[in-house]
Amino acid sequence: MDAESEGATQVTQIVIQINFKNMSYCSYIQTLNDEQNVHKVYHDNHYGFPIEDDDELFCRLVLEINQAGLSWTTILNKQETFRKAYHNFNIKKVAGYKEKDVERLLGDAGIIRNKLKVNAAIENARTILLLQKEFGSFKKWLDHHHPKTREEWTKLFKKTFKFTGGEIVNEFLMSTGYLPGAHDANCSIYKKLMKSKPAWSSKK
Ligand SMILES: [Zn+2]
Repeated sequence: MDAESEGATQVTQIVIQINFKNMSYCSYIQTLNDEQNVHKVYHDNHYGFPIEDDDELFCRLVLEINQAGLSWTTILNKQETFRKAYHNFNIKKVAGYKEKDVERLLGDAGIIRNKLKVNAAIENARTILLLQKEFGSFKKWLDHHHPKTREEWTKLFKKTFKFTGGEIVNEFLMSTGYLPGAHDANCSIYKKLMKSKPAWSSKK
């Protein structure tokens, strides 16, 4: 097999994996009758759509980190209490958290009370403040590095942030439109998604 067709095979395999995964989430949503279901609301309005606001990008990163080892349902059900506990993910405020804030968070049943995850949120907020200074915003830092492969992004995130393994990085970037695969092409909201111009859909 020559190098070119080998490359094509790899691309096809990745697409199939992505489609299989997304087909299941998008298909699952179709089975829901409740318009207010947390998954339906997330799938139809947030999953895969670009986020402009740095605090909201930080929010998504923290939620993805907190999902590790748990179900996304658990996280979606705690979204509002997470927002309250973390000052609506105001990066400056979280970056300034002291020991008493850590204690408060570890005592708050509305979030995930895991010291490593709490510390990661605070450390990552501090890192984002530095990125904002250097690049203008967290969003601009992401745009600056786009496009990258999943592997390259993971390396960069691991080097930059706390608690960012491959799965977390992949989900964060798919859910914010930097990597493709959030929705199947047959999904009912695919058109709306493409109108929002996710980063993956346009070449830099
Ligand atoms: Zn979908």
